[in-house]
Amino acid sequence: MKALVYHGPGKKAWEERPRPRIQDDKDAIVKVLKTTICGTDLHIMKGDVPEVTDGRVLGHEGIGIVEEAGKSVASFKRGDRVLIACITSDGSCEYCKKGMYSHCLHGGWILGHTIDGTQAEYVRIPYADTSLYAIPEGINEDAFVMLSDVFPTAFECGVLNGQIKPGDTVAIIGAGPIGLAALLTSKFYSPSRIIMIDVDDGRLAVAKEIGATDTVNSRINGSAVEKVMELTGERGVDVAIEAVGSPVTFEICEEIVAPGGHIANIGVFGQSVDLHMEKLWSHNITLTTRLVYTVTTPMLLKSVESGSLHPERLVTHHFALSDIMNAYETFSHAREEKALKVVLENR
Ligand SMILES: [Zn+2]
Repeated sequence: MKALVYHGPGKKAWEERPRPRIQDDKDAIVKVLKTTICGTDLHIMKGDVPEVTDGRVLGHEGIGIVEEAGKSVASFKRGDRVLIACITSDGSCEYCKKGMYSHCLHGGWILGHTIDGTQAEYVRIPYADTSLYAIPEGINEDAFVMLSDVFPTAFECGVLNGQIKPGDTVAIIGAGPIGLAALLTSKFYSPSRIIMIDVDDGRLAVAKEIGATDTVNSRINGSAVEKVMELTGERGVDVAIEAVGSPVTFEICEEIVAPGGHIANIGVFGQSVDLHMEKLWSHNITLTTRLVYTVTTPMLLKSVESGSLHPERLVTHHFALSDIMNAYETFSHAREEKALKVVLENR
């Protein structure tokens, strides 16, 4: 089969690899129908994720058809259409029993990380019963691809941790795929106002189209903090969602959160930040961080099937899987290319 293989920082190739085989009775082999590229894959390509070694097939998102199921797999058989969760879970360890699948003692984020991933024609999925989800045939395939990682991450780490309530004022910093997915899923809770902050007018225009009530370009309008305070009558926001992962954007959250409010961090931080405890403690601020568990995947699947959630709105580009080198090129110049998520189809 063909697969996208990592060969050390800055080096990758679309090349011939042996087709994966069942290694354990709980495995399934899935023929990939659609996959995508994550910001994390770009970090891997830069060499920021040293556990990923030369020869690894990348990718942790996608949908497919079960090609072969191991003897102990009870829920899936050959021919079933499935969503591949970015988090692999055995379903039986101490953490899985608490619903903390990303901390699974035998799984977690392993796909395209410590084992071969989904940017290939076939992928081996360990613990298939608890790491795959059945999806209906034919409808809205792009939407389901977005449920492998982007939507559970934004919903769990941003919206649920932020405890958005009806009527709340919400600010989301960062209008990339994760920030926009937080915007779409925050609407489950009917906030009265959703303020989107980014430095890119194209992305802010998308945010407006999919339901942001206000947008702030923090580059053009000077201080994003002043602008948000002005928009909220100097009160601030009930929930500030950080979807970038930089000290500057984290500090904006600390400045704009109203008394009693929540700062929900989704962004991946590579450096430390100033924690303004002198303000936060007396303002009753709750600060949360976490990894995605994918425990909300079944709920998000139902929301897509019922038509109340449209994750496919974040898909801007389609490529053939065999054209993945070009897809990486487009995705790594996302702002110039006006790209959000790219979908790769194994035609
Ligand atoms: Zn586990």
